Amino acid sequence: MTVRVRFAPSPTGFLHIGGLRTALFNYLFAKHNKGSFILRIEDTDRTRYVEGATENLISILTWCGIEYDEGPFLDNKGQIYQKGDFGPYIQSQRTEIYKKYAEELLKKGVAYRCFCTPQRLEELRKTQLINKQPPMYDRFCRNLSQKESDEKAKTAPYTIRLKMPDEEIVFYDIIHKEVKFNGKLIDDQILLKSDGFPTYHLANVVDDHLMQITHVIRGEEWLSSTPKHIVLYKYFEWNPPKFAHLPLLLNPDRTKLSKRSGDVAVEDFKKEGFLPEAIINYVALLGWSTEDSQQFFTKEELIEKFSLERCSQSPAIFDKQKMLWMNSEYIRKTSSEKLFYYIKPFLEEANLDTSNKEYLLKLIEAEKERIKLLKDVPYLIEYFLKPDEEITYNEEAVKKFLSTKEQKEILLQLKDLLIKIENFDKITLEKEIREFCLKNNYKTPTVFHPLRVAVSGRTEGIGLFDLLELLGKEKVINRIQIVISDKFLKQIKRS
Ligand code: GLU
Repeated sequence: MTVRVRFAPSPTGFLHIGGLRTALFNYLFAKHNKGSFILRIEDTDRTRYVEGATENLISILTWCGIEYDEGPFLDNKGQIYQKGDFGPYIQSQRTEIYKKYAEELLKKGVAYRCFCTPQRLEELRKTQLINKQPPMYDRFCRNLSQKESDEKAKTAPYTIRLKMPDEEIVFYDIIHKEVKFNGKLIDDQILLKSDGFPTYHLANVVDDHLMQITHVIRGEEWLSSTPKHIVLYKYFEWNPPKFAHLPLLLNPDRTKLSKRSGDVAVEDFKKEGFLPEAIINYVALLGWSTEDSQQFFTKEELIEKFSLERCSQSPAIFDKQKMLWMNSEYIRKTSSEKLFYYIKPFLEEANLDTSNKEYLLKLIEAEKERIKLLKDVPYLIEYFLKPDEEITYNEEAVKKFLSTKEQKEILLQLKDLLIKIENFDKITLEKEIREFCLKNNYKTPTVFHPLRVAVSGRTEGIGLFDLLELLGKEKVINRIQIVISDKFLKQIKRS
């Protein structure tokens, strides 16, 4: 059997971390089994449809390196197209298919037309609420005779509902093992709405069958829908796929994971400067682990080691702090060349010059240990890139290290010393500056701090001598000159 799995998101907004986890686990399972992973857009609920969400979703999946085999793809203008003989699998383009299958169920007598008006259903819901009964359709139209139903259908709008059997529905889930539901407590689900659009349940089952899906891997919130699907497979006389419902995701305080953008949207993590490799690694561990609790994986390792059997039943905690830690570890391990490619848009956004790639590679190499998020990089390196007159000086630092007569005097002497240094590399600089301190009986901090602030505007950063070497002689001397000039305090930009 060739494994075929699908990721079937509804384009109702941004792709959140839970959706990404579902996509990733499907992808890993498919690749591990040398099967196919397809993307199907479930957009039949037009009231929840969000313009542009499909395009967004595709571009985020692609950014994460989750390539799919069939489905809608985007060209470089952001337009949806189809590849080869397949897709695009967009349910709103397939409504005729679902209609045909809903009618087949009607003919078989396992589904029925429901003519109840929205008002009646609302009344029913209210009464049930008052009587503390679960909100369920009372099967009012289930008992209409064939004749009555056919007659009414000529004039009145109707939905098509599934006849749930009053029996226990049992199925096997790879993660949850045997699962049982009481059919009596399950609603006669609407399959086809009065506007001719299918509901999720019908379209999902029909497509999983037609697309020959072998394993349905999705979040646990869909577990309670599965008995309805099992019944549909039975009524259609189709073999159901295997099911695996992935554990719920919780916040660190064990509350339900919020769906607010900013907290869980992959797009926002991208904007903050998480590396896709770090996100994927972290997300892979949300509900799955190896026996030896390995933490870091390449994508190839994930593919090799992933199995549904090692997915847990208990909820997984999504902890952004942990993902942040993982991100900085990844940044440290990633080559500066590759980081450059990710960092460039952040620098451009901050209006920093990105034309000197060679120089930027050196800066990235020097700062790598300190980067937690790529969005921090412009601030970390801006003083290397800005013209000397435009760097920002920290107010406190200026007060502390660039205000006294003695500090200015030291800088003046340093300037004379630095002008004479020909090999402006960190080893020579360290040797010369330390000797200068000794000779003049200056404690090193009284020299190092003013010098650092003079050339960078701030007190923190990479090692002083690395910093001087990277800035280069011309900038260092020019910046000292600016700082010791009388106009300095009037002219500077402060932060
Ligand atoms: N369209 C559903 C969703 O938004 C798909 C659930 C499933 O995979 O069956 O998640």
